Amino acid sequence: MPANRTNLLDLDRQGLRGFFSGLAEKPFRSDQVTKWIHQSGVCDFAHMTNLGKALRSRLDEVAAVELPQIVNEQVSIDGTYKWLLGLSDGNCIETVFIPEADRGTLCVSSQVGCVLNCTFCATARQGYSRSLSTGEIIGQLWLASQALGSGPGTARVISNVVLMGMGEPLLNFDNVVPAMNLMLDDMAYGLSRRRVTLSTAGVIPGIDRLAEICAVSLAVSLHAPNDELRDQLVPLNRKYPIAPLLAACRRYVRHQPRSRVTFEYTMLDGINDNESQAHQLLGLLSDVPAKVNLIPFNPFPGSGYQRSSEQAIDRFREILHRGGIVTMTRKTRGEDIDAACGQLAGKVQDRTRRSGQLLGGLSL
Ligand code: SAH
Repeated sequence: MPANRTNLLDLDRQGLRGFFSGLAEKPFRSDQVTKWIHQSGVCDFAHMTNLGKALRSRLDEVAAVELPQIVNEQVSIDGTYKWLLGLSDGNCIETVFIPEADRGTLCVSSQVGCVLNCTFCATARQGYSRSLSTGEIIGQLWLASQALGSGPGTARVISNVVLMGMGEPLLNFDNVVPAMNLMLDDMAYGLSRRRVTLSTAGVIPGIDRLAEICAVSLAVSLHAPNDELRDQLVPLNRKYPIAPLLAACRRYVRHQPRSRVTFEYTMLDGINDNESQAHQLLGLLSDVPAKVNLIPFNPFPGSGYQRSSEQAIDRFREILHRGGIVTMTRKTRGEDIDAACGQLAGKVQDRTRRSGQLLGGLSL
């Protein structure tokens, strides 16, 4: 795409209004174009028949709808899909679709690689290149919807979206929010706030901003019941420890009546899975509206960790459950195609940018 053109995939409906006002066009053009792109899957202005010829050729000069390219599609024996998507700068990211009886969940990436360096996550090993643009984030939903054949008049295949792929979404706040606005927009994908979940390793200022701007469902990657252990597993904890993180979660749910924060807890054999740790976790969560998702660790070469035994996971769940916390063990999906949690690893072209400057004040 020539550099002087605007990629309309980067704009939510509000952003498109600004774009059309710059062309001296009426605000309703934004509604029309949002529907064409996101509901009808039309990216060629020539086919946007309610726009008028002059506007269509003007758009051809100043704008484009540029999507990532599907480089590879894999389908697991359990029906999970994984797409490798190529970006215009040569980087690659991964997107996963998980079909279940009562829902279909798309797991979307927010960055190429990740800076956070959680010790048990494969994405961390590949380094970090950059944040995704809004178009590259919403483009994953656009492409998956098309690939799965969901469009106007067909049943909704993708009922839920989780920002749980590669990257830390709250470190790409300004591009993630317009993408989520489109997920929620009735003129685009029309998902309810309950069905769009952002997962964070605990970037506290981002959690507070999100509450104000776009209060979708919140998931927090906790993985440890005390700071000593969490400092090791999730180095971000040294900057944002557990107590202030849980305080931020309590503030967040005030913006969302009747909702709870989901705490993700990857079960690592002999590290964070014993009974006293379950009791400690129960204590921590006693005054937070919480549910817990236990994720059996998904191994990858050289990780140095083992998955907890089924008995250990069951015992851990039972303790939380008896303590009154809704606790689920997440089924491992798409393992045969490396599509499970923490196994996404795209392809980072420039790994050199995992630097202090990018982390800004994080200094991990
Ligand atoms: N950075 C965000 C988004 C990634 S979500 C966050 O940390 O929440 C991916 C989830 O899978 C996180 O809860 C992550 O901690 C978990 N995870 C990472 N590696 C894993 C692995 N090898 N096995 C199981 N879960 C893992």
